[in-house]
Amino acid sequence: MKVDDRYEKMLEAFALAKNFLKQQVDLGFDEVYTSSMSKKPNPKKAHTPGVSHTVHTTAKTLSGFYQQIKDCKKCHLYKTRTNFVFGVGSQNAKVMFIGEAPGREEDLQGEPFVGRAGQLLDNILAAINFKRDEVYIANILKCRPPENRDPLPDEIQMCEPYLLEQIKIIQPKIICALGRISAQALLKTKQTLGQMRGKFHDYDGIKFLVTYHPAALLRYPQYKRATWDDVRLLRKEYDDLG
Ligand code: URA
Repeated sequence: MKVDDRYEKMLEAFALAKNFLKQQVDLGFDEVYTSSMSKKPNPKKAHTPGVSHTVHTTAKTLSGFYQQIKDCKKCHLYKTRTNFVFGVGSQNAKVMFIGEAPGREEDLQGEPFVGRAGQLLDNILAAINFKRDEVYIANILKCRPPENRDPLPDEIQMCEPYLLEQIKIIQPKIICALGRISAQALLKTKQTLGQMRGKFHDYDGIKFLVTYHPAALLRYPQYKRATWDDVRLLRKEYDDLG
């Protein structure tokens, strides 16, 4: 590459970085950290080094935080979204369920898990005596990927800090990752779902369970048995919290 071309590329990169920082300020963040995404984030700290694009917000409530980030344009998914799908449930929830990304219905209604997979999730919750508004439900991505494709690594990198901030505000005792994508993203692992499910992991002091995604259960009902075992484990852990 010629020196002139390299200079051009550098200017482009600076302009992009400047835009990104300006947008963060517009969104109300008072600090922005960027570095490589090599370590598992600590959701209790808003700015763990090693986490890319971790946000630090002064918001103490979910609604305050939502107001700060609802117009996010950090990645290109804002161009095709109908709604920014923040999350739903109680700020005092002891249990959080975390899926992958909004689908078509979720994008239209602005709420996670309201389509067919969501109905199945509601049934799973009811089977272990949880009401939907007793827990908190969110996704790794807040905007729908076109055609419901898998989230891309850079989309996860941009969006995950929002979820970490939600975890920090809610301070759940138990997190249940629904499906491989959210589990791998949060645990920073490449393990298969089969390797991760069925036991509690430690997520910086929070009990972290992995189970099948409800959409996978619609396609492969044979996984329902294992999911039932997983969620019963979750319920027992919850009951033991006292
Ligand atoms: N699948 C997800 O992972 N999340 C939703 O909100 C809906 C479907």
